[in-house]
Amino acid sequence: MSTEYPLTAFSKMETPFYYYDMKLLRETLHTALHEASAYEGFHVHYAVKANFNPQILATVNECGIGADCVSGGEVKAAIEAGIPAEKIVFAGVGKTDREIAYSLDAGIFCFNVESVPEIEAIERLASERGTVAQIAIRVNPNVAAHTHANITTGLAENKFGINHEQLVDVIKKVQELKHLNLIGLHFHIGSQILVMDDFKELCNRVNDIQDMIEEEHGMVLPHINVGGGLGIDYDNPDDSPIPAFADYFATYAKYLKLRKGQQLHFELGRSLVGQCGSLIARVTYVKHGSCKRFVILDAGMNDLVRPAMYGATHKIENISSCKPCEIYDVVGPVCESSDVFSKNVELPQTERGDFIAIRSAGAYGEAMAFGYNCRALPKGFCFE
Ligand SMILES: *Cc1c(COP(=O)(O)O)cnc(C)c1O
Repeated sequence: MSTEYPLTAFSKMETPFYYYDMKLLRETLHTALHEASAYEGFHVHYAVKANFNPQILATVNECGIGADCVSGGEVKAAIEAGIPAEKIVFAGVGKTDREIAYSLDAGIFCFNVESVPEIEAIERLASERGTVAQIAIRVNPNVAAHTHANITTGLAENKFGINHEQLVDVIKKVQELKHLNLIGLHFHIGSQILVMDDFKELCNRVNDIQDMIEEEHGMVLPHINVGGGLGIDYDNPDDSPIPAFADYFATYAKYLKLRKGQQLHFELGRSLVGQCGSLIARVTYVKHGSCKRFVILDAGMNDLVRPAMYGATHKIENISSCKPCEIYDVVGPVCESSDVFSKNVELPQTERGDFIAIRSAGAYGEAMAFGYNCRALPKGFCFE
């Protein structure tokens, strides 16, 4: 056990809850900014969908980091946390008229557009307001990231972005529209990527696309946004609490051919907030089955869905016990067989009431627990 948890404070708290080590968060944010600042024109933004806890957003803002949002609700959460509108970008395949109108009125920096009908919708809403929207085209680079199939986003078969074969026509179309100002290209190949070659491959694709745009349209766009995706060490959070930002930015500095004056933007989510969070639960029961011992927590898949949804693994610790270890399956109380956090975990002998920490839960933990992407929950209406 190397993370020091305030157990006395915990003993008065209702479980489950998310615990955030704000010192580690600040250190992580500062390290990312510091490593990026080694290169001219590199800018770090925070992907709000990883965690929209208001205090986390406020801390991100204190460091001067802007926001990458994927819904109108996230744009609103970012603005409410004090992040200036001119530091907010908005991506997502399904932006509604309401979300676009709200973001235009708020005066956000840029819409990362993902389809022709969306381009038409933004043009119409901007025209109604007598304003010009800044847009970047999200290009699907057809790069396979070495990560879980559910969190790769940059393949031709994925729903995200505009395929590069269609790009020339889409740029022509945008140039005809009076209320759109094309300022950049946007990419995002997936999440929890630890293989730097995947980012190198993205750089090569971006270079080809930039060459093509120069040839076809004779233009250089001022902004390139390469999204996020840098992974964290879920197995050994204490060995690498701060991700390898230096290697990550160095990869882009080495392989991406920026044009003169071009600004390079990053949208990091998981790597900024993942390691600072733990889900803290109490043990409700320890159950001895015929071939297994189960630790049954008062936290379930609805509190942290990543294991059930992606088969993700988080390090699990008993932070109350120092007894000799035994092997357990750590499960939640929800009536679903997939409500399992981890099987065959070695834990100190565990008892009812012990505190369990599920580590590396700062990203896609609390945010996915309800209203993911700051979306409103659907209401139920009863008809006869
Ligand atoms: C989710 C997302 C990110 C952040 O991804 P991480 O893997 O958490 O860094 C960045 N950009 C876009 C467009 C996203 O959808």
